[in-house]
Amino acid sequence: MILRLLILSLVVSAPLFAAPPNVLLIVADDLGYHDAGFQGSKEIPTPELDRLASRSLRCTSGYVSHSFCSPTRAGLLTGRYQHRFGHEMNPAWLPESTTAGLALSETTFPSLMKKAGYATGAVGKWHLGAHPQFHPMKRGFDEYFGALGGGHQYFPGDKGGAEYTLPLNRNGVEEPQTKYLTEQFGDEAVAFVDRHTGQSKPWMLYLAFNAPHTPLQAPAGWLEKVAHIKDEKRRTYAAMVCAMDAAIGSMLKKLDATQQTENTLIFFVSDNGGPNLAAKSGTNFTDNTPLRGAKGSLYEGGVRVPFLVSWPSRIKPGVYEQPVIALDFLPTSLAAAGAKESIPANLDGVNLIPYLTGESAEAPHDILFWRMNGPRGDYSARRGDLKLVRFGKAEPALYDLSVDVGETKDLAQEKPEEVKALLSAIGEWEKGTLPPTFAGPKPKKKK
Ligand code: CA
Repeated sequence: MILRLLILSLVVSAPLFAAPPNVLLIVADDLGYHDAGFQGSKEIPTPELDRLASRSLRCTSGYVSHSFCSPTRAGLLTGRYQHRFGHEMNPAWLPESTTAGLALSETTFPSLMKKAGYATGAVGKWHLGAHPQFHPMKRGFDEYFGALGGGHQYFPGDKGGAEYTLPLNRNGVEEPQTKYLTEQFGDEAVAFVDRHTGQSKPWMLYLAFNAPHTPLQAPAGWLEKVAHIKDEKRRTYAAMVCAMDAAIGSMLKKLDATQQTENTLIFFVSDNGGPNLAAKSGTNFTDNTPLRGAKGSLYEGGVRVPFLVSWPSRIKPGVYEQPVIALDFLPTSLAAAGAKESIPANLDGVNLIPYLTGESAEAPHDILFWRMNGPRGDYSARRGDLKLVRFGKAEPALYDLSVDVGETKDLAQEKPEEVKALLSAIGEWEKGTLPPTFAGPKPKKKK
């Protein structure tokens, strides 16, 4: 009888002893909110991402913590608002600078996963500092392959600015680019999984594409797939999204073939909204419909992004509507790894598992904050459905996102108490932040 009870208790509590999942973070760069099939695009085919979405929770109020590249990545890799350690700008490519990068004071996501018993790797764009002290392998990754700057030319040998034509870097050693960069990153991600499948440790991979960020360069095959798009710039951008989709597909197929799909926790986001860059026709070549604003703005189009969480063995696919943010990836992954006790106390991100599994019906966050350009810059905050936006010294505006996701109707005059409360919350939050500790790249001189 005692034995039977013991066996029964072991069976009932089996999930507690289930093998920790692999963790895969996929980050797209400058992908428009509407520019994937699962986000509603009829123009840009993304069958692989759509397949991932079909087995994911699609988080419709999924955010990143900044509306451009590097600060979002700093937040994602620390689980903290990057303003807490002064990372509010994109670092210029300055290999001699020991300040322009992800602060060494911060404990990183991969270093915590490593402590929890994971093999950790990063493939793709880094953009968290050029000095050797900021190299991914100095910041918690066991392995790295990619482009260390803020972007890169896509075809081997293409000419461009210094940062965008740097040799690629494998584990600290320079290596030439051999093919279309997005495809090469896809191959490297698959090779990482191959190296770590069947080993004693679970793995964590940070797969950070520079696609579909400019320069607009796409292979002919993908351009043909989107030949229906008339505008040349949008067509090229769309082909870049397709190439990224295929590279992600090669990863997903590898997970299927090695029976790792069920027990791999996958996060997919774009690092910010689609940029507002003029297409030939004069309109924007990315599409953030139905959101207002774009990359670089604190309107939803800058910070609300395509956002998927997939973990088939634990999380049922569907739609999740409460606000969540990429800062949550770190604590969620540690909890999934069975290392809840290692979640640092100073995080802004939360463990999403109880919310995404339906165990808790509450909202994961009471409030979310954004700030750009330092103190006295631009601010926004979202609590429930209400979002306050204030640009510099301008009067704040208030929007009800439940009925006005496009932020068209300013309710600030109608709801002064709510405005006051949100401004006060921002003031409190700001006490725990620093002004930027390094400047952004100097604007290019006009020729
Ligand atoms: Ca970006």
